[in-house]
Amino acid sequence: MPPNVIPDKCDGCQKLGDPLCISICPGNLYVIEEATGKAVCRDPGECWDCMTCAIFCPQQAIVNQVQYQLAPIPARLIPKLEQNSITWTLTDCKGQVFRMRNITLTGGEEDEEE
Ligand code: SF4
Ligand code: SF4
Repeated sequence: MPPNVIPDKCDGCQKLGDPLCISICPGNLYVIEEATGKAVCRDPGECWDCMTCAIFCPQQAIVNQVQYQLAPIPARLIPKLEQNSITWTLTDCKGQVFRMRNITLTGGEEDEEE
């Protein structure tokens, strides 16, 4: 399912100059609304669900939706981007929480579970 932009969190990447979601989406799906200065997905039907935009948004303003068939299942996968790593928090369908941390930029990788 295509991602949603939370308007209150999106600042249009003003500090970066160019909106990151526009430059990073492989489908070129983001535009900035002229009236609001906020990002929107211009064609949700073309979204590949790759989650790249949600991972890299510096404001954590993009939320991916799960398929409606999965909605009753309380499983979640939440990425948190840090300077040289991405931490994924997985809550499985039984409510167990796992964290996996991938080191980026350095080329190394490590996994942690809790
Ligand atoms: S990357 Fe995030 S903060 Fe930047 S324009 Fe896109 S949604 Fe807004
Ligand atoms: S999930 Fe991927 S394809 Fe869909 S809008 Fe985000 S970056 Fe683009």
